[in-house]
Amino acid sequence: MDYLTLVEVFEKLEKTSKRLEKTFILSKLLKKTNKEDLEYIIYLVQGRIFPQWDRREMGLSSKLIIKVLNSVTGDSNDDIENIWSREGDLGKVAFILIQKNKQRTLHRQELTVKKVIENLRKLAGLEGKGTVNKKIQLVSELLTSANPLEAKFIIKNILGTLRIGIAEGIVRDGIVWTYFDKEIGFNYNEKENKIDVEREKYNFYVDLVQRAYDITNDYSRVALTIKTKGIEGLSKEKLSPGSPINVMLYPKAEDIEDAFNTIGKPCAFEYKYDGIRLQISKENNGNINIFTRRLENVTKQFPEVVDFVKRYIKAKSFIIDSEAVGYNPKTKKYLPFQSISQRIKRRYDIDSMSKKFPVEVNIFDIIYYNDKNLLNEQFKERRKILEKITKQIKLRLVLAKQLVTGDVKKAEKFYKEALTKGEEGLMAKNLEGIYKPGSRVGYGAKIKPTADSFDLIIVKAEWGEGKRSKWLTSYTIACNHDGELLELGKVSTGLKEKGEGITFDQMTKLLQPLIKEEKGRNIIVKPEIVIEVGYSEIQKSPTYSSGYALRFPRVVMLRPDRSKKDIYTLEDIKKAYNKQKK
Ligand code: AMP
Repeated sequence: MDYLTLVEVFEKLEKTSKRLEKTFILSKLLKKTNKEDLEYIIYLVQGRIFPQWDRREMGLSSKLIIKVLNSVTGDSNDDIENIWSREGDLGKVAFILIQKNKQRTLHRQELTVKKVIENLRKLAGLEGKGTVNKKIQLVSELLTSANPLEAKFIIKNILGTLRIGIAEGIVRDGIVWTYFDKEIGFNYNEKENKIDVEREKYNFYVDLVQRAYDITNDYSRVALTIKTKGIEGLSKEKLSPGSPINVMLYPKAEDIEDAFNTIGKPCAFEYKYDGIRLQISKENNGNINIFTRRLENVTKQFPEVVDFVKRYIKAKSFIIDSEAVGYNPKTKKYLPFQSISQRIKRRYDIDSMSKKFPVEVNIFDIIYYNDKNLLNEQFKERRKILEKITKQIKLRLVLAKQLVTGDVKKAEKFYKEALTKGEEGLMAKNLEGIYKPGSRVGYGAKIKPTADSFDLIIVKAEWGEGKRSKWLTSYTIACNHDGELLELGKVSTGLKEKGEGITFDQMTKLLQPLIKEEKGRNIIVKPEIVIEVGYSEIQKSPTYSSGYALRFPRVVMLRPDRSKKDIYTLEDIKKAYNKQKK
């Protein structure tokens, strides 16, 4: 497919905010996409070039893009920066510059979707000497052949500033509308922006596609399977240890009684450990992989965990779900998440890190065992398998401590015991519950004392003043609302200039590579960094897009194990607000 065809669709998507219309535009595009381009198109509409769990980055800053534009159009850096500060978006800047450089069209070659994504993927593979020049070259090659509209979207794709609003749910529904339109009796009324479908059948196919996505985390793969192998192929889509699957998430219960109400009686209570969630898998060939809940591969960062599962779990293949908890190697006392969080990102001195900050693996679930998918097995059966195949060794690898009961008093005692031991609280689990990747369904619930803090994501930041001008010192934080990030205010306390704890320098280094737009002291960043924010009170506020603001917010800690999906939702904020009014 020509890249131009794709970007014209991007333009249409940009112009509408209606979900059904977006889905329809997407499905029209997919209908005319051939097998070869399908994978690419589905990544590109989502503003990415790899599956969600693949963390390779193109790694081009705004500054480098300005250099590219300079070399392609001949406009000076100053001119480009001026247009940028007027337009606020480098994609638009590329559009304007390419448009006024008409003579270049002489060298134009047709850009295909394949060519564009291939060049972008090459960016992500570059390392070492000469990288910067090669990057400039790869992007320049595309821009020389691009018309203004193509240039705009190439830049937006690189910088991650595509704003065409294709959330995961839209991709899923778009796939159903494209490939199962006859089965569901699909009809879209463009004028009224309404669809006609046979509801039951529609829900069946939506579930099917969602399920395939939950175990593959890759809509490109799901769509390609349907296109080439049909519905049979889709239902055969298998879990494969080695590629990560979305972990199951649990809603919050107010207390033990509330947990019984949602989960049922009796249920299993487990300690809720305060560590890093690790999904550990072993393939038949013995390969071990470890993923965080953001599906980041951290196998290299946890060599001792690889060793433990090899030694203490007897199975040819598996995928297990666990929490790695840090402990002090001298006193053997358990430590909170914060103390081991640095291990997730660490790329060097791994061995000394695992000695300094050792972890105990607490296994609480298994979803694949000796070539068998256990997603639809009952929790009590899954636990039995775990008990059969693990050799428990304290401070290395153990099963989550569990109590099965229907008695409020016994459960409350267990809860107190967990808290006294320094755990975060309890998890309550339905004994018959299946494992539902990605969803917060009622098969389990977490119970923990209400802390006045939320996990939120940084969307904007501000450079400091005076002697702090080299740092980003104030951060705008947001919560999630159906994939949209809504602001809750700014936080600037809780960080240090130097010494123990999070420093401004550290935060600046984390945010700088994520800068998407810069105007004076204000910057907009790619939403990647999750922080826990403490506060004294939640207030209603017309100033911020969430409608709420936090009073006396402070940064409690970084949450490198969490992503946009894991942060608090507007619903959570509302609940906490209503609760504090009581
Ligand atoms: P929260 O992070 O507050 O949403 O709580 C859910 C997290 O608790 C999970 O993602 C796990 O990382 C962690 N966790 C600790 N212990 C358990 C357990 N026994 N069962 C399930 N999750 C647990």
